[in-house]
Amino acid sequence: MRALILSDIHGNLEALDAVLAAAPQHDAVWNLGDVVGYGASPNETVECMRLLADFNVRGNHDKVCCGLVSAEGYNPAAQRAVQWTTERLTDRSVRWLESLQEGPLFTSNSSLAHGSPMDEDRYILNIQDAWEPLQRAEQRTSFFGHTHMQGGFQLRGSEWVHVKPVQSEGVDADKRSQWVLPLREDGTRYLLNPGSVGQPRDGDWRAAYAVLDEEANEVTFYREPYDLALAQGRILMAGLPERLALRLREGR
Ligand code: ZN
Repeated sequence: MRALILSDIHGNLEALDAVLAAAPQHDAVWNLGDVVGYGASPNETVECMRLLADFNVRGNHDKVCCGLVSAEGYNPAAQRAVQWTTERLTDRSVRWLESLQEGPLFTSNSSLAHGSPMDEDRYILNIQDAWEPLQRAEQRTSFFGHTHMQGGFQLRGSEWVHVKPVQSEGVDADKRSQWVLPLREDGTRYLLNPGSVGQPRDGDWRAAYAVLDEEANEVTFYREPYDLALAQGRILMAGLPERLALRLREGR
């Protein structure tokens, strides 16, 4: 079984299209949330996940943009993006976003969350944040998103590893690249983030995603270049904040 794992698409259809065209053959699609917010194509990315994904976890932007909770506490650019998105979502998109379930969701062998498995809105940024979820994990692999940073943590006993995929092509590369994490069968538990498809914040502008291969016992982290200028142009033409276009190039 091979699962294509996507997170934080954020209405960036150009990035999502590039990832779907490049992804290796897979049996399932797992979406870790934030399908909308920031990008210029919220209805298109909703429709794509509605049709393609076997599991859809709700993200904080999904909740806010369909009106389940307020955007209080968001920075001004994010609030404007929420307002812009809310005004443009079709009724069908709103209903689908409203129907999304809070993580963690459970596949046969993994758990899927947007933020922490303990709290959907909490960020997992360091070992301290990863501690309790990994102590409590019953599956070998738990996947999360929300931070927009590819990688994660692994734990066996008291031995911690900060998993940082090193993409050989470098951050300015315009080529695709991949990095393989072999999964150990000695009781090691993994808490892993595929990275953000639509708005990476780990210094690499390329769309991020991951594939879990249960037979090969490995997770492969990918970076895929996409038509950045088109995604930026559509954000600017839509009247969304300029910063949301500029940050795509910075990967921040
Ligand atoms: Zn997000």
